[in-house]
Amino acid sequence: MPAYTTREELLALATSFRDVAAEDIKRAQTAECVHAVTLRAHARLNELEMQLFAEHRVCVDCKAGCGTCCHLGKIDARAHEVFALADWITRNFSNEDRAAVLARAQAHAAAVAPLTLEAHLRTVRACPLLRDMSCSAHPARPGVCRIGHSTDVRICERAFQNPDDLAAKGGSHAVSKLAMTVASDGTSFAFLEAGLDKTVYDLGSALAEALGDPSAQDRWLAGERAFSDAAKAKQEP
Ligand code: SF4
Repeated sequence: MPAYTTREELLALATSFRDVAAEDIKRAQTAECVHAVTLRAHARLNELEMQLFAEHRVCVDCKAGCGTCCHLGKIDARAHEVFALADWITRNFSNEDRAAVLARAQAHAAAVAPLTLEAHLRTVRACPLLRDMSCSAHPARPGVCRIGHSTDVRICERAFQNPDDLAAKGGSHAVSKLAMTVASDGTSFAFLEAGLDKTVYDLGSALAEALGDPSAQDRWLAGERAFSDAAKAKQEP
């Protein structure tokens, strides 16, 4: 396996993720099939992660039931990831649990909408999907949550306790994180090339709209913006 430490290796990695997803999207005839494309891309990202950690002998300090990083700052996602997640929730949660996630996501959206980028980055707030410090939608979590990992949980705890100190964040294996980010971007590029929404969204806010507005998915599949301006991720100008 390449070490993914050179520009050429990273470009080839992004291209391979893009090409596989692009072929997969071409064959997808229904919304369910499009969501399955996303879940298969997530599985490829997981495989890549395991290969990277083995290749670079990365000792990961994350443990089930930690959930610290699920509180920290902005969690961004693309529309294809949000809709695959919402579909998975609808298929796997009871009506009551789905309604509870929707209520938490709506509360999240209302809380983060007025924040500046900097204030959002300094926010400590549980993701609407976090239950008992575990992800309640783990099989369908978006790419950013798969990429995130820590080689020292004490760094995560310091960030949790000092949200104003943005330099306290970190602790991931840089080469692995960059390679997984590039691969995930390759998948996103395939969706963009298929004519679908290229906006980056705040996960919790977009999830509130995906679960609460049945027309959002139709809009997205028709090539329109999936979610409102309020759900857009805040980014540097
Ligand atoms: S989707 Fe799951 S893994 Fe990602 S931040 Fe939310 S609770 Fe954590």
